[in-house]
Amino acid sequence: MADIIRLLPDSVANQIAAGEVIQRPASVVKELLENSVDAGAAEVRVLIKDSGKTLVQVIDDGCGMSGTDARMAFERHATSKISKAEDLYAIRTMGFRGEALASVAAVAQVEVRSRRAEDEVGTCIEVHGSVLVKHEPVASERGTSVSVKNLFYNTPARRKFLKTDSTELKQIIGEFQRIALANFDLRFSLYHNQTEIYNLPPAALMQRIIGIFGKGMNQHLVRLDTGTSIISIGGFLGKPELARKTYGEQFFFVNRRFMRHAYLHKAVSEAYQPVLPQDAVPSYFIFLEADPANIDVNIHPTKSEVKFEDERAVWQILHASVREALGKFNLAPSLDFDREGVPEIPVFSRSAPVNVPQIDTDASFNPFTTFEGKYRRESPPREWEKFYEGLRGSGSPVFPEKGAEGTESGSQLRGRQFFHFKGRFIITAVKSGLLVIDHKRAHERILFEQFMASMERKTEPSQKKLFPSVIQMDAADHTLLMEMKDNLQQVGFEIRDLGNFNVLVEGLPGEADKLNPRHAIERMLEEFKTTGNDPSVGRQENVARSLAVSAAIPYGKTLSPAEMENLVDRLFACAAPNYSPSGKTVVFILPLEEVEKWF
Ligand code: ADP
Ligand code: MG
Repeated sequence: MADIIRLLPDSVANQIAAGEVIQRPASVVKELLENSVDAGAAEVRVLIKDSGKTLVQVIDDGCGMSGTDARMAFERHATSKISKAEDLYAIRTMGFRGEALASVAAVAQVEVRSRRAEDEVGTCIEVHGSVLVKHEPVASERGTSVSVKNLFYNTPARRKFLKTDSTELKQIIGEFQRIALANFDLRFSLYHNQTEIYNLPPAALMQRIIGIFGKGMNQHLVRLDTGTSIISIGGFLGKPELARKTYGEQFFFVNRRFMRHAYLHKAVSEAYQPVLPQDAVPSYFIFLEADPANIDVNIHPTKSEVKFEDERAVWQILHASVREALGKFNLAPSLDFDREGVPEIPVFSRSAPVNVPQIDTDASFNPFTTFEGKYRRESPPREWEKFYEGLRGSGSPVFPEKGAEGTESGSQLRGRQFFHFKGRFIITAVKSGLLVIDHKRAHERILFEQFMASMERKTEPSQKKLFPSVIQMDAADHTLLMEMKDNLQQVGFEIRDLGNFNVLVEGLPGEADKLNPRHAIERMLEEFKTTGNDPSVGRQENVARSLAVSAAIPYGKTLSPAEMENLVDRLFACAAPNYSPSGKTVVFILPLEEVEKWF
């Protein structure tokens, strides 16, 4: 019998290999854009026809190629970026495998025009399905233009596999966005069938984010900035309210290369947990910089995954810095931490001595350390004084100095006028404008922290004894209630199981003692079932949140001035007063400047 093993012809081998790298028009866009960035371009233009099925063209003003290099570029494993194995450990470029152009040319009709600055004449090369069909000198602009026509023309099965035009275009836009974000200092434009989709001038990162995702981002970004010897972390975090609106834009860049990283995503989302609504996904644009020797980006053919040498350490640093950034922002809701020229809403009036930057640069303070373990209500309002300065009357401190004892800081607010508006908002004047507080959410926050503190201490607060009340439940509710029973006892419930799905309620937490016990329990269970059952935060927090939400003063209830004062005072003694336990905004300052603009 004759030998049966044969080498595949190059063209077939190339087509097979191309399948790994080039799955769809968006993959072409990605590879060509990366090459342009690697070529040191200052401006990159992308022209798309028919969602990339007819044409993907990328034009750059980068270093260009010589005639020989342009020909070489189409050979598999032809790369100018590494020459020996050690180079792999110092990769800073986007590409280095030398596969992209060979792969694209295996499954499309590719034309390259390129000229280096030092050459007078450029080169034009055409390769159709791995076959060189043209190679000649041409007059051309400095830089490189690569046109990829009729993708998958010679592999009809793959062409059929492409999704609808709108899906393919969406993918293309996604790839474009990632590279344009990573390289915010370059100029990028994207056209589809002659329509301009993006035209982005070189910018700072924040402007680039706004350029891509719209002006709506403007007020909703918090700066992230941490440096350690292992890794440095920069970029922006979307404030929690942004998560509700957009369902999240998530970007990790490692050494300016977009990466997916489920494990690090978890570090970020866990850090957001205390201030984020259920099911909401945070937006973030995080840039990690690490020594290339300590990361491995070579584990995936399209190189969008990365492995860090010390992944756990990176997790912890990232988690801590996201918490710190969110915490600082949470501390001072109306201070804008951005220094890139986004208008800020000052807490202080223009004429007052400004000490805003103190908060901005106080890297040591992190309210989450308080948030996490110590819900000590007896502690003085600490760093809150800085925020309180906005509440001060002309020059005279309204709140006691740090460590002042014995005084409820609320009493310092005495004499201040509070208005209750629409059965929902508590309004009072502060130096920089009008302070507006959602009373139900404020109460939810207060109760939540109080309940968490009782659970942490595991001591039973004094229950309000009531006339015992028997509640008949269904099996599911009963099981749930019994699971929560320990936590509920810790916050002041007294519940006894009578068998047959009957429970006896003999005591309620102090704050909830005016509620009908049956309603209190039912509403709490309802809340727990619909929003409270988040496995990532543990039962305590879920119980505390459901309880707080269900027991908080409802909208529509009239509040006396004393009640409002009390609520405001206790709110600002909380560790995280700006958000309700479900992540909704509690406090807002309508700036004086805004009010003045109307007159
Ligand atoms: P890789 O990027 O992994 O090196 P590619 O197949 O994408 O492999 O490109 C092969 C080579 O072609 C690159 O190493 C580079 O030298 C050259 N090249 C590709 N695109 C460009 C471009 N836009 N400008 C200059 N050189 C380019
Ligand atoms: Mg490349």
